[in-house]
Amino acid sequence: MSALKIAVIPGDGIGTEVMPEGIRVLEAAGKKHGVDFEWSFFDWSCEHYAKHGAMMPDDGIEQLRAFDAIYLGAVGFPGVADHVSLWGLLIPIRREFDQYINLRPVRLFEGIPCPLVGRKPGDIDFMVVRENVEGEYSAIGGIQYEGTEEEVVIQQSVFTRRGVDRVLRYAYELAQSRPEKHLSSATKSNGIIHSMPYWDSRVAAVGVKYPEVKVDQYHIDILTANFVRMPDHFDVVVGSNLFGDILSDLGPACTGTIAIAPSANINPERTGPSMFEPVHGSAPDIAGKGIANPIGMIWSGAMMLDHLGRSDVHDSIMKSIEQVLKEGSCLTPDMQGSATTEELGKAIAEAI
Ligand code: ATP
Ligand code: MG
Repeated sequence: MSALKIAVIPGDGIGTEVMPEGIRVLEAAGKKHGVDFEWSFFDWSCEHYAKHGAMMPDDGIEQLRAFDAIYLGAVGFPGVADHVSLWGLLIPIRREFDQYINLRPVRLFEGIPCPLVGRKPGDIDFMVVRENVEGEYSAIGGIQYEGTEEEVVIQQSVFTRRGVDRVLRYAYELAQSRPEKHLSSATKSNGIIHSMPYWDSRVAAVGVKYPEVKVDQYHIDILTANFVRMPDHFDVVVGSNLFGDILSDLGPACTGTIAIAPSANINPERTGPSMFEPVHGSAPDIAGKGIANPIGMIWSGAMMLDHLGRSDVHDSIMKSIEQVLKEGSCLTPDMQGSATTEELGKAIAEAI
């Protein structure tokens, strides 16, 4: 097999610290399973913004198009407004390559203290499917009567039938493929009276083709409460861009640390590369200390290989993560240990 061509964007803050560990573990797993990688590095970041006035060059998207996948650390840093790093890099990549699925697994591992009383590994194991290119993350709107007492701000959400149906189909297919076959959908149809009832109606319409899947529809407020009260109840959870984002930070927080959570920005039709990144951000508060937990980055790498058809490499990485966590002697401070980023990365690579 020829080498997998991977575009690497370490980004900012701890993104640059966890990325080498992600690559280290992928190299180790690739060696074991006969997979070669060709890494191409891009320094697109807030530093790039400071030098050139843009997070990435004008032809950035074109530069990425030919890669098998994009492996991203984290972007954003104090001094550059959050919306600049988001709209200058992440959102264009997601939209231009039609990565309309954001898939975020949530799982409690043996060895990580769980903040929810009485929960054991196996109790928490679900998938959040977030709509990734439309919905509430919209640039449509603006401010009127600015600077006066009459200021009015309008921010529109955009939900298309095509956009809603395709994320729901993906979520139903995923639920159908899992033993529990249980889909939960998040809306707020009592308060948001156009888009959310529409989403609910499409859940029912798309679901006609999936009679085996049991469906629950929740308002987002009670759904978030239930994540904490009964996380064992969930199997596949689908939500809009905003609700999916919130659920996929809350979910991992319930498993002890958001730092282990991975995400896949997927173009299921493969008309462009998909992108794999940890859920966490650049964490300026711990950047430069060498103590960031690299597991979110490493697990995202495992998802990348699964997407590229190498579930054997994925499974091998996941087993090594499980083994190192269970063994418990090499944990970073967010998991109540004292290991460094590099020590944990090396321990997982060695376990492979
Ligand atoms: P973003 O807007 O990019 O999602 P954020 O504001 O949500 O960023 P994060 O950068 O994700 O913030 O960090 C949130 C908190 O979690 C911080 O206190 C940070 O130190 C901690 N944290 C995040 N990632 C890690 C990690 N890999 N290892 C240890 N702690 C982390
Ligand atoms: Mg965040």
